[in-house]
Amino acid sequence: MILIKFEQIEEVFEYTPAQDEFIAKIPLDYKDAWDGNFEDLVLSNVLRRGSASFRDKMKDDIKNKLTNIQGNYCIYCGITFRLVGISEREHIADKATYPQFVFKNQNLALACHYCNGFAKKGTQNTVAELHDEYDKCKFLIVHPYLDDIHKHIEFISKEYKVLMRPKDGSVKGANTIEMFGLMDPEQTVLRGALYLKNKKNDELQPDSLEFAEEIMIVGKRF
Ligand SMILES: [Zn+2]
Repeated sequence: MILIKFEQIEEVFEYTPAQDEFIAKIPLDYKDAWDGNFEDLVLSNVLRRGSASFRDKMKDDIKNKLTNIQGNYCIYCGITFRLVGISEREHIADKATYPQFVFKNQNLALACHYCNGFAKKGTQNTVAELHDEYDKCKFLIVHPYLDDIHKHIEFISKEYKVLMRPKDGSVKGANTIEMFGLMDPEQTVLRGALYLKNKKNDELQPDSLEFAEEIMIVGKRF
């Protein structure tokens, strides 16, 4: 098991035919498709009763599929969820501003609470140029599916993935480092501590987690 994984997501999860059919019934501008109870859509016979629980099961299914594809790492800070806690389903283009993409598979990835929450990304805008087709939108940050992160961000040392910088002046790389605080002292110290503890080894050692927890308590990162 590696400590930190910065990789583009190469595979997009697929919905079942029943899930696709369900999603197609929801109006594109419907604001509360992710968390709402669909009462208005049930009353107007657009959706059947029980649709909210169907949607909730689908959300669990999305999380399982993403875990299989993505592995156990936050898509933004790259740190294993074994350290940074429970994974959350994250909408890359936020669901309040872009309800049309709320179930778009390429708009969903797993992130840690710290990166996904108000401390960092929250509902900050990530879309530079909107398009009806999701993959034709232009994004302000390195997109987990559409961009190769290694073209935008590089580690200064190849051996220790601790200090990073935008590659070749990449604006997306700079925005991503800024939005997720990837070079904040807490993040940098955590990565450094993990590597120090592991010496030159990229593998997680039995006592690495305990050591990192101490570092996180000191840094009050999480
Ligand atoms: Zn994270």
